[in-house]
Amino acid sequence: MESKQKIWLSTPHMGGEEREFVDEAFDTNWIAPLGPHLNAFEGDLEAYLGENTFAAALSSGTAAIHLAMILLGVQPGDEVICQSMTFSASANPIVYLGGKPIFIDSEMETWNMDPGFLEDAIRDRIKKYKKPKAIIAVHLYGMPAKMDAISAIANKYEIPVVEDAAEALGSSFHGLKCGTLGDLGVLSFNGNKIITTSCGGALLSKNSDWIKKAKFLATQARDDAPHYQHSQIGYNYRMSNISAGIGRGQMKVLDERVKQRRHNFSFYKAALSELDEFFFLPEPSGYFSNRWLTTVLINPSKNSISREDIRLGLEKANIDSRPLWKPMHLQPVFSDCLYFGTNVSANLFRSGLCLPSGSNLTRSELKTVVENIKMEFDRIAKVKVIKV
Ligand SMILES: *Cc1c(COP(=O)(O)O)cnc(C)c1O
Repeated sequence: MESKQKIWLSTPHMGGEEREFVDEAFDTNWIAPLGPHLNAFEGDLEAYLGENTFAAALSSGTAAIHLAMILLGVQPGDEVICQSMTFSASANPIVYLGGKPIFIDSEMETWNMDPGFLEDAIRDRIKKYKKPKAIIAVHLYGMPAKMDAISAIANKYEIPVVEDAAEALGSSFHGLKCGTLGDLGVLSFNGNKIITTSCGGALLSKNSDWIKKAKFLATQARDDAPHYQHSQIGYNYRMSNISAGIGRGQMKVLDERVKQRRHNFSFYKAALSELDEFFFLPEPSGYFSNRWLTTVLINPSKNSISREDIRLGLEKANIDSRPLWKPMHLQPVFSDCLYFGTNVSANLFRSGLCLPSGSNLTRSELKTVVENIKMEFDRIAKVKVIKV
């Protein structure tokens, strides 16, 4: 079944009030990386997240991770532990500062950092007089990592945790919002995320001094003086007041977006899990995922059909789908980094596919995706039988 309009993986979905906020920015001439929308957007985030969390709105999620590494004092030669299965932006800022990432495999219940390998890594590095400076845990596709176990290990060895919640705004862990569970939290509002400001991010913490410092560093580290006075290296990382206006409109529909993304997941699962070859990751008890992207493992045990068979079939039908994140320890750019684990994340990469998951997908688009997957499945199954 050919779909005429391309069905994308995840596209921006405006709620309606974004334009009014943006117009207000124009009308009042607050076209700058400061202004009333910026403060109000931070207030909206703080109110939504609760737990006495403070927020600094920034130009990207990557900038937020970079500032987190600076606040935690990462210096050239320092080691920082990072989940291997993630987007490269989780790890790149470690290298910006001359640090070395140490990658950790995933476990099968959430696909995030395996606490067992995390502790193995910490013990090994401490033995070699290289105590890691920080731990970067990620909530992939919105599924919270095992934060109780990760935090317990982090506390035991007194290593701060940075929560990369770029994909997990709206997710929660035993009732606490993702982004508020670590020492520092990171959000992204890039165009493909659950809500967007076109480009943008935020750094979160209960430590108000850190957030104050982050805002200072993000605005060129200007000391308090009438002239331009600097005693530290600064960055141009603040969010613009226009972007923040979009963010204010998006915050009004965040809960609805979570519902819509979770509905996509339920729809695909109901339509496809009758096929033994398709596995949808369930939420462990106490875990709530925003289901940013619906992901499916295809044929984890048999050899009848592959992830690529389905992906290429969808591509022919003008439907966007994508393999899961390729683990960082398998990326050429990180080939000299240490890795603790087995092949869990590598296997997830081999068999996992992200399906079109925008909150703006129509029922008929979801149906088209499912029909094409089933058709491709039947076609390949026949071809493989003939080959045998
Ligand atoms: C999107 C994303 C980032 C980076 O956020 P940007 O706002 O695009 O810089 C970081 N980590 C993860 C896991 C992401 O998905």
